[in-house]
Amino acid sequence: QAAATPKPPTLIFAVANQKGGVGKTTTAVNLAASLAAAEHRTLLVDCDPQGNASSGVGVRPRSIELSIYDVLIGRAALSQATLPTEVPLLEVIPATQDLVAAELELVDAPDRANRLRDAIRPHVGDYAFVVLDCPPSLGLLTLNALTAAHRVIVPLQCEYFALEGLTHLMATIDRVRSVFNQELTVEGIVLTMYDGRTSLTHQVADEVKGHFRVFNAIIPRNVRLSEAPSHGKPALLYDVQSKGAQGYLSLAREILESHYGPMKRPRAKPAAK
Ligand code: ADP
Ligand code: MG
Repeated sequence: QAAATPKPPTLIFAVANQKGGVGKTTTAVNLAASLAAAEHRTLLVDCDPQGNASSGVGVRPRSIELSIYDVLIGRAALSQATLPTEVPLLEVIPATQDLVAAELELVDAPDRANRLRDAIRPHVGDYAFVVLDCPPSLGLLTLNALTAAHRVIVPLQCEYFALEGLTHLMATIDRVRSVFNQELTVEGIVLTMYDGRTSLTHQVADEVKGHFRVFNAIIPRNVRLSEAPSHGKPALLYDVQSKGAQGYLSLAREILESHYGPMKRPRAKPAAK
């Protein structure tokens, strides 16, 4: 009998690294788009006042009426701030510079670390995945994202001090887990802007693999990934054949397989009798 497979619960990923320019936003945008392209309804939430994830999926800053700021301070419901994108099944909650003020406004609120969790978790049931793009710091916005998330994805550029920053981030994640969010785990580290021609890259990659779970999917340095945002498109709409777009599609596949198993994807055909 074809008993309906129960819908798996929504999984919320925070894409975090306190270092700027390591590929957080590129990863959040392209992973979210790749999950949506695999027919999983996905919500991208821009948690960085820079708003790069928003513009990366084609939201024009001036057209934004409600943003994650309004959701965080309780002025708008999640659904009111959600916008469609050009990728079917991918929606976005944009961010604007207003979000800088949220950090200040919330500083004395007793629930300041839980605002995002309380604003989104009860309302994301229709999505298979939520991807939170964090700002380049370990301040209140990243704390909110880590408290709201089930899993952390850490983009890492293979460069000299990468491991030191990683140790600090992991300590922060441990602290968030013990104080705010018991179920928080690290999904994995994704090597970004990877240039396999340098020996430093290999040294850093090997060392990281010795300490942490690193995804098999590796994101190469690829100019298409840096061009796509200026067209307001994820790489898979800009140049799907590019190594960058393919890297993020592989990352999404790896994540889907680790959660659903190769044979148990929700959209798999029913087994033959
Ligand atoms: P973060 O969000 O961590 O600050 P971004 O994702 O914005 O980092 O990336 C920083 C810069 O590097 C951006 O200009 C982006 O387009 C570029 N970039 C990111 N990943 C790649 C890549 N794999 N290849 C080439 N350029 C990249
Ligand atoms: Mg960013």
